[in-house]
Amino acid sequence: MCRSTSREPATLKVQNVCERPERDTEMEPVERMKSGFDHFKKEVYEKKSDLFNQLKDGQSPKFMVFACSDSRVCPTVVLNFQPGEAFVVRNIASMVPPYDKTKYSGSGAAIEYAVNHLKVENIAVIGHSRCGGIKGLMSVKDDGSTSSDFIEDWVKISISAREKVKSEHSAMPPEIQYTMLEKEAVNVSLQNLQSYPFVKEAVEKKQLKLIGGYYDFVNCSFESWEN
Ligand SMILES: [Zn+2]
Repeated sequence: MCRSTSREPATLKVQNVCERPERDTEMEPVERMKSGFDHFKKEVYEKKSDLFNQLKDGQSPKFMVFACSDSRVCPTVVLNFQPGEAFVVRNIASMVPPYDKTKYSGSGAAIEYAVNHLKVENIAVIGHSRCGGIKGLMSVKDDGSTSSDFIEDWVKISISAREKVKSEHSAMPPEIQYTMLEKEAVNVSLQNLQSYPFVKEAVEKKQLKLIGGYYDFVNCSFESWEN
């Protein structure tokens, strides 16, 4: 559904957010980027010159968003965020690690900047269907040993979600368990966010909301919930 190539008959083409322009499919990478930028400049930047002029002076996004790095789930595209509207972190399986000043500092720096300096009003963590990172989490060995340099240690951030799904829903088919874990991992990240003192304080003062989200690109649906 989310793929479209120039070899597909026109009658089978499905217009959706994942579709790429046909003209871009066979280009060299640098040409592809230049072509993409030309399109953006003409169709977006120049048509929204007021907005981009305003953004020259600074940003004041209302949202911070954690989303997966998966190429199919760009939150700016899926949620139609305009430039300046969302401060985005993307990583494997859209996970928020717990507060830890010695590890995960990239995540900590982004959250600190978003909350303390940009004063975002919402932090949304968005999981998605068929997430490879979540599949990886499900297959981490029970003894905790890993065979990758980074991936398994990273997705183990949500190991408690895996234990929950495995203990409560072990009789379910694997595909259902993956979906449950994709959503439970979001809840772990929402809990982890509250381990950051400045997040906890802003939530308590009702200056900040924590929101869970789930994008299913198989059925093209989106659900969200407040923590
Ligand atoms: Zn993913």
